[in-house]
Amino acid sequence: MFNGERIAERPLRWGMVGGGRTSGVGYKHRTGAQRDNIYQLVAGAFDVDPERGREFGVNLGVAPERCYKDYKEMFAEEAKREDGIEVVTIATPNGTHYEITMAALEAGLHVICEKPLTFTVKEAEEIKVKAEEKGKIVGVTYGYAGYPIISQMRSMIEQGLLGEIRMVDLRYTHGFNATDDAEKKSGAQSWRIDPKVAGPSFVLGDLSTHTYYLSQFIMPQMKIKQLLCDRQSFISSRAPLEDNAYVLMRYENGAVGRLWTSSVNAGSMEAQVIRIVGSKASLEWRDTSCNELIYEVQGKPAQVFVRGNDYLDDSALEYERLGALHQEGLSDSWANIYLKIAQAIVAKEKNDEVALSKITYPDINAGIDGVRWVENCVRSAESGAVWVDFE
Ligand code: NAD
Repeated sequence: MFNGERIAERPLRWGMVGGGRTSGVGYKHRTGAQRDNIYQLVAGAFDVDPERGREFGVNLGVAPERCYKDYKEMFAEEAKREDGIEVVTIATPNGTHYEITMAALEAGLHVICEKPLTFTVKEAEEIKVKAEEKGKIVGVTYGYAGYPIISQMRSMIEQGLLGEIRMVDLRYTHGFNATDDAEKKSGAQSWRIDPKVAGPSFVLGDLSTHTYYLSQFIMPQMKIKQLLCDRQSFISSRAPLEDNAYVLMRYENGAVGRLWTSSVNAGSMEAQVIRIVGSKASLEWRDTSCNELIYEVQGKPAQVFVRGNDYLDDSALEYERLGALHQEGLSDSWANIYLKIAQAIVAKEKNDEVALSKITYPDINAGIDGVRWVENCVRSAESGAVWVDFE
C-alpha cells in the first residue's frame, strides 16, 4: 500500500508545456503529479497564448518570472538557474510533441509526454536515441495503466490462469462526436481532425493507443504478427481522418484479436472494455467499473476480483492507496471537501457572510450533528432498543 511517504529527498522540480486554462488534460497531469508531493510545479509555458498562460500559471502558484511565453524560453531560462526544472510534462496537441520532447531532452530534462508520442515511428525512435544519449527518462501518459486491477490482470495471465490465450477483444469508444457540430463546439476537437496537428489518425491515435498499451501491458508476451484495419469518417468533413475504426489482429502464438475504436458510438458512455479469452478461462475489465475484474473459469461460477483486497497479487496492492471498500473517486471527493473548506476560510477571512452561506461543506454543525446522532442511538440501545425522541 502506498501512503504518500516521499520516494526521494525532495520533490522533483517540474515544469509544464501546455495544459493551460482551456486544456482538456492539464488538470489530470497536475493532480496526478502533485498529489503526493513528488513533483513540485515551479515553471510553465502553459498556453499557446502567452498572456493567458502567464495569468493561469500565476493562479496555479507559479512565480510570475517562471511563467514563460513559450517552451524555448522556458528551457533556456530554467537551464541558467541552480533550482531549474528537472522534468517537464508536454501536454500540447500531438503535432508539437516531437519538437518539444527533443528540445527538452537536449536541454537535459526528463520528459513526460502525452500520447500519441509522435506522428511516425521514426520520430519516436529518434526520441529514444536522444533520451539514451542524454541519460534521461521519457514517460508517456497512458493514464489508465495505473489502475491496480490492471496489474492484477497482468499477474493472473502471467501465472497461466487463463491457459493459452486465444482471443483478445478490445474496445475504446464514445459518442461525443456523433454529430457534425462537434468540431464547431470544441477547439480541442477541431485540431483532432486536422492531420497537420493530430497526425495520421484521429480515434486510432486519440483513443485506441490507450487500449492497445493496456493490452500489451497485461500480456507483454503477446506480439502482433499481422493486422487489418478498416477505418471510416462517418462525418465526411473529418476525412481523411477516421472517427471510427475496426482492427483485426493475428498474434504470433496463433491467437486472434479485434479492436473497435470510435467517437461516433452515439449514446455510449462505456469507453473501454477489455476481454481476454484463454483455453481455460477469461478475464474482463470495463473502465466504468475500473475497480473490478471478472474472472470466468469454464464450468465454474464467475468471480469478481475487487481492488484493495488481500487476495490480490502483490503487484496489484503495491500502488493501492485507499484500501478495500472505498471507490477510487473517493480521492476526488476528499479534494472537493478540502476545496470547500478552503473557500470557507477565504470567505471568513474577508468577512463575506453571503459567500460563506452559499458554501455547503461539513461544518461545525455537521460535526455536532454526528455526535448527536450517536448519542441518540446509544441512548435508545442502552434503554433496551426502544423508540426515543431525537434530541
Ligand atoms: P487541448 O486543445 O484541450 O489543450 C491544449 C493545451 O496546450 C492548451 O492549453 C493550449 O493553449 C496549449 N498549447 C498548444 N500549443 C502549445 C504550445 N506550442 N506551447 C504551449 N502550450 C500550447 O488539448 P488536450 O485535449 O488537452 O490534448 C493535449 C494532448 O493530450 C494531446 O496530445 C492529446 O492526445 C492528449 N490527451 C491525453 C489524454 C490522456 O488520457 N492521456 C486525455 C486527453 C488528451
